[in-house]
Amino acid sequence: MATTDRATAVLTIDLAAVAENFRILRQRFAGNSLGVAVKADAYGLGAAQVAPALWRAGARLFFVASLDEGIALRSTLADARIAVLHGLTTGPADVFVEHRLLPVHNSIAEIDAWLAATSGLPAGLHIDTGIARLGMPPREVEMLAGTSRMATLPLDFVMTHLACGDDPAHTLNTKQCDRFRDACAVLAIPASVPRSLVASAGIFLDPSFHFDLGRPGAALYGIATQTGLPNLMRPVVGLRGKILQLRDVDSDSTVGYGATHRMTRPGRVATIGAGYADGLLRTLGNRGYAVAGGRLVPVVGRVSMDLLTIDVTDLPDALVRPGQFVDLIGPGNELDSLAAQAGTTGYELLTLLGSRYARHYLPDMPGQAA
Ligand SMILES: *Cc1c(COP(=O)(O)O)cnc(C)c1O
Repeated sequence: MATTDRATAVLTIDLAAVAENFRILRQRFAGNSLGVAVKADAYGLGAAQVAPALWRAGARLFFVASLDEGIALRSTLADARIAVLHGLTTGPADVFVEHRLLPVHNSIAEIDAWLAATSGLPAGLHIDTGIARLGMPPREVEMLAGTSRMATLPLDFVMTHLACGDDPAHTLNTKQCDRFRDACAVLAIPASVPRSLVASAGIFLDPSFHFDLGRPGAALYGIATQTGLPNLMRPVVGLRGKILQLRDVDSDSTVGYGATHRMTRPGRVATIGAGYADGLLRTLGNRGYAVAGGRLVPVVGRVSMDLLTIDVTDLPDALVRPGQFVDLIGPGNELDSLAAQAGTTGYELLTLLGSRYARHYLPDMPGQAA
């Protein structure tokens, strides 16, 4: 990680906005409590900074993907409940116990391994109701039902995951909801065990989908998760790139590798010190935008590993000088917009933003050193 004053690109992460987004979601959520997804290093934003901010905002249950992510988070949050979504497929039961991590069981074999190793410590249970990804499919739920395991395994929560939560009109949503209720009934899950269906997008569905426990990730980090609806979340991420050079180019000259952009007038190109090695995808070439002086300016030519080029012909000289920064993600072109220009989602763009940026964390509490 570069220091801020030497950096050619600076990623700003607003922890106050993360905390505010947690509060916004909690207000919307009709169930009892919200766990938070901080897998993939809090979607690339740094779990070591983001998770404590969420803890201070009131989150007590944290979801990670793997055992190693859980161990890393345990050293950050001594008292949190940490659930590992990929469960015992990512490591042995005794290591989960040692670090006080809750595996989420995705199969009967994992339940048996856990019971054999721990004689009945709590764990989560994941039922697949139609995404066909992780969790127990209906046949396995039936095999599990009525066995002694259900009596000996203390369940911390039971969960399923929506395939189409971002699309309120999709018929799979209600099907998954019904199948979840059925599976809980078949397994005779007591009413005291929290049930969890929704991630970020589902929190914007009808409250009948909410159940007891929510598991948002993306919305905490400012991503719009409901396609076509205004984004109610506060933006969390800003990205600025430094102008390394300015180049006056003649009409008819080309810009960048492959000469894919040809100037149609004499103009000026600014070269910015960030590229696809920093998560600014090559698909932004000739398609993305930056913001300089409050105006959108197009990316021209291909994005290369460490550099990209923008056409600043229409901007006044004072706004574009070498050493100045332009906004690559920020007001006027937020994360989701840049992602759309790249032909991907805010999720993918966020998790790709590389490790090379200087990172600047804005504190979630006055006087708090982030
Ligand atoms: C990643 C994940 C979440 C969080 O999803 P978002 O869409 O980022 O809110 C919740 N549950 C499971 C099982 C996940 O894998």
